[in-house]
Amino acid sequence: MAEANKTSLTVKVLVGMGLGILVGLIINLTGLNADGSFTNVYVVEGLFNVVGKMFVNSLKMLVVPLVFFSLICGVCGIGNISMLGRVGSKAFGLYMLTTAIAIAVAIMLASASGIGAGFEQVSASTFEGKESPPLAQVLIDIIPGNPINAMANGDMLPIIFFSILIGIAILMVGERAKGVIDGAEVLNEVMMKMVNIVMAVAPYAVFALIARSIADLGLDLLMSLAGYVVVLVSALLIHLFVTQMFLLKLLSGLSPVMFLRKIRNVQVFAFSTASSNATIPVTMRTVTSRMGVNNSVASFTVPFGATINMDGTAIMQGVATVFIANVYGVELGIAGYLTVILMSVLASIGTAGVPGVGLIMLSMVFAQVGLPVEGIGLVLGVDRLMDMIRTAVNVSGDAVVSSIVAKSEGKLDETIYNDPEAGVTDTDSLTQFPVGQAAE
Ligand code: ASP
Repeated sequence: MAEANKTSLTVKVLVGMGLGILVGLIINLTGLNADGSFTNVYVVEGLFNVVGKMFVNSLKMLVVPLVFFSLICGVCGIGNISMLGRVGSKAFGLYMLTTAIAIAVAIMLASASGIGAGFEQVSASTFEGKESPPLAQVLIDIIPGNPINAMANGDMLPIIFFSILIGIAILMVGERAKGVIDGAEVLNEVMMKMVNIVMAVAPYAVFALIARSIADLGLDLLMSLAGYVVVLVSALLIHLFVTQMFLLKLLSGLSPVMFLRKIRNVQVFAFSTASSNATIPVTMRTVTSRMGVNNSVASFTVPFGATINMDGTAIMQGVATVFIANVYGVELGIAGYLTVILMSVLASIGTAGVPGVGLIMLSMVFAQVGLPVEGIGLVLGVDRLMDMIRTAVNVSGDAVVSSIVAKSEGKLDETIYNDPEAGVTDTDSLTQFPVGQAAE
């Protein structure tokens, strides 16, 4: 096929997203999605639902083995335990810092806008809070009592711990473990190829996921919560385009324009799946092959970030706290807001990046500052859409921190970072085997 006819995967995925929004809106606005209607049963909840969920499952299927093998390779690639410690503490510090800045700015913006005051409570959905695990339990659970169990449940922190420990032990065994390192490297490559295979269907799956979400959206709710939505989305955009890009430039000197261009694909996946965890394979692929971050850093910072770094979620918590405090006429004061910041930073460590988890964290924050947990019901109706947007901000944060840490450790290939075409895949190449390796 002629070069010119090849369309990059990113473009196809973006087209899928645009069409998904369009078709979703048409179904929503024309009322075609009424309960029990043909469109609802066979198209939205049938075709779109099945295609979307199959795709999300295919991404999730790759997460655990990918993190496992790439971390083993990563640790063996670093080859030096003190660098591992440095990468870990820098990433941890930056993840916490960005989350704290995110929520502080969100609280200020929401307070200044006065959202929620005089809000008419029309129909609050009921919301029952769940307990988030206490910090002590989070710390205990980092060490898996049973690693197979941790893998079966997809618990990221214990998987990360176990993989790093195996990597360190392999290094300590030395020469005799060479075969294991080679094996892990080949398996890591195989996993990356599997990511490419799954990505080949991404444009269609992204279409299905987004069309279904938009078709199901309560647009009237969106209007009645316009104040909350506008402040929240503005805070998310400010964090993405101003705070994160400023930190990237300041701490690494890398070009924010190039970053924003390359991160688009990852953001679309996060937007359509509303899950940082399910997006790990795509984030990993982009950060390494498009941005030039060495696997020894990315294999750790990406899954770690998907679990503990939630800038967008923290922003939602800040805005929702101010909104609901205002609706109920509760005065939180500086001490109250500081508690909110601390609680939400801590809560982000113990909760995984999966859809809707932000609301569970919010109930923990509310319980701490004495706000009524059932108040969360007020924002429940728009939370799916907000979740999609904030997850895109969460994964961007993971990539920003990965780039900063890699740059500071001399583990970022700037020729790759600055090459707009680096690591671009076209879907045609995904269906062709290298000559001689095709089915024999
Ligand atoms: N869905 C978000 C994520 O996966 C978490 C949340 O805000 O609910 O990062």
